[in-house]
Amino acid sequence: MRIVLLGAPGSGKGTQAKLLVEKYKIPQFSTGDLLRAAVAAGTELGKKAKAAMDAGQLVADDVVLGMIQERLATPDAKGGFILDGFPRNIPQAQALDAMLARVGQPLQLALLVDVDIEVLMKRLTGRRTCGTCGAIYNVYYTPSKVPGKCDKCGGTLQHRSDDNETTVRNRLKVYEEQTAPLVSYYKAQGKLRTARGVGSISDIFKAISDIIEAQMRPLAAVGVGMSAAKPAAPAKASSAKTVAAAAKAAPKKAVKKAVKAKKAAPKKAVKKAVKAKKAAPKKAVKKAVKAKKKK
Ligand SMILES: [Zn+2]
Repeated sequence: MRIVLLGAPGSGKGTQAKLLVEKYKIPQFSTGDLLRAAVAAGTELGKKAKAAMDAGQLVADDVVLGMIQERLATPDAKGGFILDGFPRNIPQAQALDAMLARVGQPLQLALLVDVDIEVLMKRLTGRRTCGTCGAIYNVYYTPSKVPGKCDKCGGTLQHRSDDNETTVRNRLKVYEEQTAPLVSYYKAQGKLRTARGVGSISDIFKAISDIIEAQMRPLAAVGVGMSAAKPAAPAKASSAKTVAAAAKAAPKKAVKKAVKAKKAAPKKAVKKAVKAKKAAPKKAVKKAVKAKKKK
């Protein structure tokens, strides 16, 4: 399963990624880890990355992509990967798609861990850490018994300066601006699925696992892709999934048709119009248009 994880700071996607790694035995690609490993190994890409970092610059997208590509070729990534922290914008998403297409391993799922902004605010601004033992509390969700004092050791609880309201709101705003376009991007590809990131860690993980397993099933089934390629086939309930399946199984034109057909009703008339267009004679198109009007 090849997955991109999307989620705001405080959404808990890092925790969920770890659980996914355990359950599905697929590695998590974090760009930070990839960079550190490449620099430590002194590879060509590692040297480029180090030069950029030493100069205080961002590491170029093609260097990061190269690292992801190299990582893809390692044996433990055979069954797929979970990408976390990349892509962060549309050009990166497009470059990633192009690279994955070149190696014949397109993305299968973009999973958004969705949490309302006010909940994120409370999660991030309510965080308190014990200065003595490092225990973590949250004044809204998991407060200590005595305010400001650690339950475990009696130490003083500290509020990190970058957890203040203004800083957190800015961070979330930056995230929103970056990620909203990505959500639309993957939605248009039929690859976006959303899990609500509220409730217990295990409840959220259950929701995410259900999504992943629902995605894996149609891939395993024989012939699903073929029937999905017919533009008029998708029934209402399954249309989103079928379009996604078509995206994987069929050439782009077919997908476009499927999407068009989905948008414009009635389906039969659209099919006729599309056929008629291909076959050329103008009369047929007129007929198809008329037929559409009558209905
Ligand atoms: Zn403590």
